[in-house]
Amino acid sequence: MAAIVLATLNARHAHAALGLRYLHANLGELEADAVILEFVIGNQSEAIAEQILEQHPRVLGLGVYIWNVDETTRLVAILKRVAPELIVILGGPEVSFANDAPPICALADAVVCGPGEIVFAQLCRELLAPAGAGCDAGPMAGAGTGAGTGAGTGAEARARPRTAAPRFIVAPWPDLAALAAPYRLYDDHDLAHRHIYVEASRGCPYRCEFCLSSLDRTAVPFPLAPFIAELARLHDRGARAFKFIDRTFNLKVDSCRAILEFFLERIARDPGDPVYLHFELIPDHLPPALRTLIERFPAGTLQFEIGIQSWDAEVTKRIGRRQDNAQAESNLAWLRQATTAHLHVDLIVGLPGENLAGFAAGFDRLCALEPHEIQVGILKRLRGAPIDRHTQSFAMRYNPNPPYDLLSNQDIDFPGMRKMARFARYWDLIGNSGRFAASLPHLLGSAPFDNFMAFSQWLYAATGATHGLGPERLLAELRQWFSRLDCEPRGADGPPCPGSTGTARSRREAALAALEQDLERFQRIALERRGQNRAARLRQARNLGAEPTG
Ligand code: SF4
Repeated sequence: MAAIVLATLNARHAHAALGLRYLHANLGELEADAVILEFVIGNQSEAIAEQILEQHPRVLGLGVYIWNVDETTRLVAILKRVAPELIVILGGPEVSFANDAPPICALADAVVCGPGEIVFAQLCRELLAPAGAGCDAGPMAGAGTGAGTGAGTGAEARARPRTAAPRFIVAPWPDLAALAAPYRLYDDHDLAHRHIYVEASRGCPYRCEFCLSSLDRTAVPFPLAPFIAELARLHDRGARAFKFIDRTFNLKVDSCRAILEFFLERIARDPGDPVYLHFELIPDHLPPALRTLIERFPAGTLQFEIGIQSWDAEVTKRIGRRQDNAQAESNLAWLRQATTAHLHVDLIVGLPGENLAGFAAGFDRLCALEPHEIQVGILKRLRGAPIDRHTQSFAMRYNPNPPYDLLSNQDIDFPGMRKMARFARYWDLIGNSGRFAASLPHLLGSAPFDNFMAFSQWLYAATGATHGLGPERLLAELRQWFSRLDCEPRGADGPPCPGSTGTARSRREAALAALEQDLERFQRIALERRGQNRAARLRQARNLGAEPTG
């Protein structure tokens, strides 16, 4: 039983919700009367409601994100039917803009807009205070209220008639030094099996209009020494996979250095027990002080997520993104050549003013730098994001349903965007998966975008599917594609041209040989996995005192 339940639907089990742990850690005297319940999208809404109500909570705090807003809406509707007295408070980026609120807000009693650690605790204190008791915190001291709402005490939310508008509470930016750190709330299961999200700074000073962080206007660091002490405690407890959610980790060189040095020291203590670190970097800022540290990390320990989004200076200027392309290109080349960091680099399709030819040129430019992964993302209109100001002038048509992806604009029509959505999906399966490392260069040739688009169009025509294509099926399809490979395709939509020259024959044979290498690697990995599974079954059988069955 708990008076307060903090819950969310994560995209995957491996994603432990840092936001809920922040709320829990900052509940003060109410912490002991609160529990965190985490679910995964796809869980049955009724079963989630049942588990929440088993705690007999009076207050439910729900984290709402673009990936869970639909399912969370269904959940709240069910809860309000069977337990109308339950006070539902929403938070998270998807509900943080009162003027652009999704339908779920109408079902809730209150919505906390912005960083909610302090405001949520104050609200719970007011709601759970015995009737007639005063509350020193007052009616949400320091917090504003959104449009169409009204200031007031928690009693208002408690007594809210079902037809009343929800109360929007705009949370002020908290003093990060005064926040209780959430990391002790990762349990042993989290440390062993899930990504451990950590945060060395909050906010972003850049103004990329497609991004909600552009509204932050600044990045504020958490005090460094206590943060590193938290990292040390997590590492001592067994955490090895750390994901930094800082939007621009490499912005402040001194704190970045201190954190990298901390991990290098831990790796040096026991090189056989490495860590896995994920950081988001801005691409054009890699001073020598950072380079000398980055190149010391052993293979398999660093992953960098780097946003390029577009190489077109006019497009990036239009959306408020500052980026030195020459510096970014040189940094990416250095990272690829001088370090073992895994590079995941983002591009966006559909930015206002960038047509498919422009995107294709940017894709080819990035391919030449050979990052390990290229994320081809379709532009989304996130609720509250300033990119909305281009909607009229560039005829931006977004999907009205989450994730609010672009359907068409003045430069790319709907069929064009559909082609790009399939391109992105197949690129994930083939280009980014790492499974086709030997054959990919043969697939891309000297015109990566055009050649992959031609393959993507052919694959969709052959399979009619973008999901349910396992590695074996993809391998078979690639074999067919390579078998027809008589010369370079004639552009994005053209079929391979007929006829077979000697050069084309050797190109086809080289591609098929590369595919065989990929197949051999698949088979080797499958055998290793079978061996590992059998060893695990043997261990289990020994523990149970029985013989394994196969
Ligand atoms: S895209 Fe990155 S750099 Fe730009 S505002 Fe968002 S977080 Fe900041």
